[in-house]
Amino acid sequence: MKQIKSLPELVCPAGTPSALRVAVDAGADVVYCGFRDKTNARNFPGLNFSRDEMADGIRYAHTHGAKTYIAINTFPQAGNVTLWKQAVDDAASFGADAVIVADIGLAAYTAKNHPHLRLHLSVQASASNEDAICYYCDAFNVKRVVLPRVLSIPEITALNSVIPCETEVFAFGGLCVMAEGRCNLSSYATGKSPNMNGVCSPASHVRYRQDKDGAMTSKLGEFTINRFAKEEAAGYPTLCKGRFRLNGEAGYIFEEPTSLDALSLLPDLLKSGVAALKIEGRQRGRAYIEAVVLAFRQALDAYAKGRPIKTDALINLAEGGQSTRRPAGRAGPAAEGEKRNRHLLPRHGHEQARGQCHARAGGGPDADDRGQ
Ligand code: SF4
Repeated sequence: MKQIKSLPELVCPAGTPSALRVAVDAGADVVYCGFRDKTNARNFPGLNFSRDEMADGIRYAHTHGAKTYIAINTFPQAGNVTLWKQAVDDAASFGADAVIVADIGLAAYTAKNHPHLRLHLSVQASASNEDAICYYCDAFNVKRVVLPRVLSIPEITALNSVIPCETEVFAFGGLCVMAEGRCNLSSYATGKSPNMNGVCSPASHVRYRQDKDGAMTSKLGEFTINRFAKEEAAGYPTLCKGRFRLNGEAGYIFEEPTSLDALSLLPDLLKSGVAALKIEGRQRGRAYIEAVVLAFRQALDAYAKGRPIKTDALINLAEGGQSTRRPAGRAGPAAEGEKRNRHLLPRHGHEQARGQCHARAGGGPDADDRGQ
């Protein structure tokens, strides 16, 4: 059977030092994590790393042959950029393998002050077309872009043929309806947003109420987000995943809670030329991290050896019991069960990326950078 020589990096979430060790031990090529403040988009209580923990975590990863990327992917506030610049400086001094930034000013600061620190563009920057990505590469020497979850595999393939940097795509975890980096729903309800404060629907604004009929009502700030019947599993009250009454009918008007699960799409995704697969979920516990990392490690290793991929390995970890997984035995993009999948699969009339990056025609990532 055909043996595949190079696989994309498996980039795994680590919300805590213990999750970092679990991810590395389970086979992550890379762990990504953030400092314990609003410089990263998972600024939840009990998560993230102190400076000492980050230095230790990087050491642990390096000792075990893995890399560490530090997400500094919120947007500095006017008159208060010191925290974000300090985070970049500290990431460089601790020996991080890359920083993942979203803000254009922070990208400029990193490129100017730490030219040897590998710079990745966060999904929060919403760079989803050739011109936008080329601009970041030209201006700041960005080596990798994390692509928004709105792109199909043909679009990713087309982009990979014309942009001068690597691409990283999400392969598992939560989905949200925003064009990444541009959601104000949480801010509307709580005053805190992913981009400015690093939190969506913060727990401090969440309330659950047990009703007399046994139903459960969940609230975010002043808003009722959902009402669950007695036996129904109650989800976290994220505004975009709320059930609301519209024209007399209650339903999920933004989206039904659904997880991204690209295990069944791995062969197509790998052929698209992506340099890395990213697992979402820095807010998740160790058991979840271990299960997901192990499943993807096994899937990638199986693919490399020409063996079948176990595509249903993570069926039980889907949010709301629903995922974008392609059912076993069904081939082709229109298979039942993919109806909710608005990304990765081919779309009619999608715009193919075309041409070459104008300023860097013929350019590309350094050979040594490919696959890092
Ligand atoms: S409210 Fe929903 S769409 Fe907006 S950031 Fe949160 S999860 Fe994403």
